[in-house]
Amino acid sequence: MITVVKFGGSSVASATQFNKVKNIVKGDEKRQAVVVSALGKRNKQDSKITDLLYVLSSHIKYAVDYSSVFNEIYFRYNEVKNDLGLKYDIQADFDAFKANLKNGATEEYIVSRGEYFCAKLMANYLGYAFVDAADVIKFNYDGTLNYEKTKQLVKAKYEEVGAMVVPGFYGSYPTGEIKLFSRGGSDITGSLLAMALEAEKYENWTDVSGVLMADPRIVENPKRIAEVTYDELRELSYMGASVLHEETIFPIRELSIPIYILNTNAPSDEGTAILQSSSISDGIITGISGKKNYKAFTIAKAITANKSVVIRKCLEVFEHFKVAVEHIPTAIDKFNVIVDGKKVEKKLYDIIGKLKEVEGVVNVDVDGDLALVAVVGRNMALKPGMSGLIFSIFGKNNINIKTIAQSTEEISIIVGVAEADFEKAINAIYDGIVR
Ligand code: ASP
Repeated sequence: MITVVKFGGSSVASATQFNKVKNIVKGDEKRQAVVVSALGKRNKQDSKITDLLYVLSSHIKYAVDYSSVFNEIYFRYNEVKNDLGLKYDIQADFDAFKANLKNGATEEYIVSRGEYFCAKLMANYLGYAFVDAADVIKFNYDGTLNYEKTKQLVKAKYEEVGAMVVPGFYGSYPTGEIKLFSRGGSDITGSLLAMALEAEKYENWTDVSGVLMADPRIVENPKRIAEVTYDELRELSYMGASVLHEETIFPIRELSIPIYILNTNAPSDEGTAILQSSSISDGIITGISGKKNYKAFTIAKAITANKSVVIRKCLEVFEHFKVAVEHIPTAIDKFNVIVDGKKVEKKLYDIIGKLKEVEGVVNVDVDGDLALVAVVGRNMALKPGMSGLIFSIFGKNNINIKTIAQSTEEISIIVGVAEADFEKAINAIYDGIVR
């Protein structure tokens, strides 16, 4: 059985980083399928190649001279090639790229070259076969992934070439035209390969030693999460934790392939395991995340109006305006509809107007000062009084709870607070439960 390894942008930012990647890959012969991102930042001031490629593409779109940004990109790749003393004919590939730019290349093609050139360099450096993602990662005409085709093609290719390097972040339509995933999508390429090759595990190498229990910009020195389940990770990332691309889990979930988040710069650190289920049961919560900028609509109905009907009709209003509903806490004659603030910014008054027209609705108020904090943990259900504990922590810290949402399965408890209390709330929970 093999291991799929994916290296993010900072892991391939320079020749020094390429060298670390080689040591990791060659350190275990099971590491047979390698996915790379485009070159990332070498330091804080540096640019990510993917960002430069988007700039290049808009220069072309608006017919602005693009030679300096093109040269900057070429320079980054050429430097890695020279520093590593590789034979790869980078000039020929960049000439072909330039010719395509003159012939109406699409933005998706242009941006995909970041991963493409990086994979070419890496394949040459490792002595592995280069496999173009356009030949094995396949989308349908409607832009959805074609899992079956992808599985077949990846498997056949691996059987043909053996150890391989595949560029992340893109695939192709049935016509062969390049299609990108959304930003951060190289994570998905890795998990598609893991699915197709029925890998023993999927190692996702980055620049942090695993996932932390809370955002280190908010909580000082938060602990590392040793194991997190697929479901917990989904809750944490949905509520703002940026770990993996949200869709990474989908292809490998059914096969229960574990993912490990590891640090290219500290390869012997333990990292975080993302698993179907976990047997670690110490610690009540797994992590805390959260987001600001929510809006809560408070809708009051007439005492005589049928609640289910009013809720349904109000939700239809949100559906009509294509606004996803996050939570719907209800009371007897009132209920809240909580949505992402950015999604309603431009249509707020239209939505309020339509809600007021719903039969049975007597009043609509909007609270625009709402942040949600998610306390996530598979062990919470086993511990009675979790919500009580959170309430008392908030009480002690003088934090007013605006709303609370909890599912019966209790993998997460979501609490709404004023935006000004957001950081304080996360710290209070961390100090009260974890420390
Ligand atoms: N290079 C792409 C990005 O910056 C994709 C990736 O790194 O996963 O979003």
